[in-house]
Amino acid sequence: MAFVTEALFREDGYLAQAEAAVVAVNERGGIILDRTVFYATSGGQPGDTGKVAVADGRVVDIAATITGETKDEIIHVPAADSWLKPGDRVKLAIDWERRLKLMRMHTACHLLTVVCPFPITGAAVAEDDSRVDFDIPDAGFTKEDVTAKLMELVRADHPVSTRWITDEALAANPTLVKSKNVRPPVGTGRIRLVLIGDNGSVDSQPCGGTHVRSTAEVGEIHIGKIEKKGRENRRFRIRFGPAPTQ
Ligand SMILES: [Zn+2]
Repeated sequence: MAFVTEALFREDGYLAQAEAAVVAVNERGGIILDRTVFYATSGGQPGDTGKVAVADGRVVDIAATITGETKDEIIHVPAADSWLKPGDRVKLAIDWERRLKLMRMHTACHLLTVVCPFPITGAAVAEDDSRVDFDIPDAGFTKEDVTAKLMELVRADHPVSTRWITDEALAANPTLVKSKNVRPPVGTGRIRLVLIGDNGSVDSQPCGGTHVRSTAEVGEIHIGKIEKKGRENRRFRIRFGPAPTQ
């Protein structure tokens, strides 16, 4: 039987702490809670790390967060064997510094899909260097141009928000899906859209990840590299900070 964990990060990506109860500990030692602020690895965004503490002060370090049998079952993987048991009341704290970087990078990836409006074939968000792969027959892009357009979107300080729509509404608007190979999970009846700009004026696409509240929070970024990956694939690497001068 799969458990359903209340995913607090879906409504508020800025929630770094919460209280919860242990629901189960699986055969591999993974901890399942009734609710959590720990994002589970999905959609190219790595899961959170952090700490789970009990009232007497003992702490379990969480090394990774993943999904279980279903996307709704969130498993907290402890760094070492834990003594937590079902029924324990716990205090959760994610590694906020790391998560904020991932939220900034993840939002930057959305901005890149605005600057490069081509089908996405892959993406991976990381703390220092993220990548998005596009199906583009001819590059025709320079790092400098793409960086300048990204920074225009960052400086414009567009709001970032989420909205739930029905599977039917998504089916009626197939252009919302930018990913070539990955279909958003339909069948649960609703899909979460991430909107950039008022009412999604800059971009809207289905995404279950965590994002910053406004594009200005992404901060300074640049395209570190545009790599050719096969005849029709280009890999764009996003990095924090200003572009290094040659
Ligand atoms: Zn996203």
